[in-house]
Amino acid sequence: MNSDNNPWRHSIVLFLIITLGSGLIGFLFNHTSWGFCLGLLGYILWLSRQLYRFQQWLKNTTLLSEPPESSGLWGHIFDRIYTLQKQEKAARKMLHGVIKRAQDSTNTLTDGVVITNAQGLLEWWNRSASQLLNFRYPQDRGLPISHLIRDPVFKRYFEEKDYKEPLTLMLHHGHPIEFHMTLFGKNERLLLARDVSRLQQLEKVRTEFVANASHELRTPLTVLKGYLDTFLPLSDSFNPAFKRGLSQMQDQIQRMEALITDLLLLSKLENSMPIKESSSVPLHALLSRVIAEAQTVYANKPQQIELIADRIMLLGHPEELHSAFSNIILNAVKYTQENGHIRVEALQHEQEVWIEVIDDGPGIDPSHINRLTERFFRGDQSRAQQIPGTGLGLAIVKHVLIRHDAKLEIISKPGEGSCFRCRFPKHRYQVES
Ligand code: ADP
Repeated sequence: MNSDNNPWRHSIVLFLIITLGSGLIGFLFNHTSWGFCLGLLGYILWLSRQLYRFQQWLKNTTLLSEPPESSGLWGHIFDRIYTLQKQEKAARKMLHGVIKRAQDSTNTLTDGVVITNAQGLLEWWNRSASQLLNFRYPQDRGLPISHLIRDPVFKRYFEEKDYKEPLTLMLHHGHPIEFHMTLFGKNERLLLARDVSRLQQLEKVRTEFVANASHELRTPLTVLKGYLDTFLPLSDSFNPAFKRGLSQMQDQIQRMEALITDLLLLSKLENSMPIKESSSVPLHALLSRVIAEAQTVYANKPQQIELIADRIMLLGHPEELHSAFSNIILNAVKYTQENGHIRVEALQHEQEVWIEVIDDGPGIDPSHINRLTERFFRGDQSRAQQIPGTGLGLAIVKHVLIRHDAKLEIISKPGEGSCFRCRFPKHRYQVES
């Protein structure tokens, strides 16, 4: 090891001693210039030897062998490189430790974790991913993920890069797997995969319970309604308090009937198979029918309703589509004040059809907009003003649209009205010729 603080001084002194010393010896023998030349040659030979040792040592750097013993500038160079090597080795060891800990911890997760590179090729995955997705290590490393999860829906989801919502797929082993994807770095993706069999089982139990309970409530309600229908025509001869009671009972029974109908429809939508066989539904005719029905229900509320519709056929389930548009249009009529304006538009927008119901009603509080499709969610105003409703209408709309690969957008400002937009993709409509 070298402890000289000023390596340059040592090298210069050495150079001077060799050259001047040999010059002096040359001078004594009357050959001063030969003496200098021999001195220089000696110095160059010494430098070459150091270089040779340096190169030999560098060859072995991976083994981290001790540097050759040397003094002066060369000793300093050897020591410095040796220290840097040791520091780098320590940093590498620490990094390996961190990576190993991260890998060990992700291996204990029950969720599958997968990393793909910018080209969608598999880079790394944990043990659960191997089990859930049947990936084999190391054979599958570097293969495109879409070759291993062979489902066109997954391929589309992976490539579209719209990962706001998770994707659930039934894979070969018969288990539903939920995928959550995130983009990071330069188009690399982190994929989380989870077996949701148990969750789906619980969800099934829940929807079946709601469906059964709603169904069971129907019979007693029909009996009560039957009695009320018998008593109400006679109520003029009853005590006024009794008559008021009967009329309130009738209102509540109607409310319960509406709730049960909506709950049964919702659980039917949740439990039905995806729509495969689609009918062609002429949009203009469907919307005119729904508008006419809404005007009949709210016959004593004068409003202007306008319909503008391209000649379009929606491809889907006629009753479900009727129910969705009916909920949106009935809401517009229900929440918009007398003499208000409602416009129903069904127009093509590039590769989509947009069906918009626009009103100049009270609008919606921005903090409520994201919650409107939740079951039983009702705006404060609807409750305060006791506007009748179940809070299930927009949940039904959302489900129908999902089943038709469509999306619901709600745009509204308090005091400026609302726009409910249903966006249907290209494969869900045809333009009438
Ligand atoms: P319901 O109408 O039975 O309350 P919905 O699910 O159909 O249930 O609607 C949820 C809430 O959305 C309503 O309670 C109301 O506050 C709000 N809403 C829906 N449509 C409109 C509209 N056109 N204008 C203002 N508010 C609306």
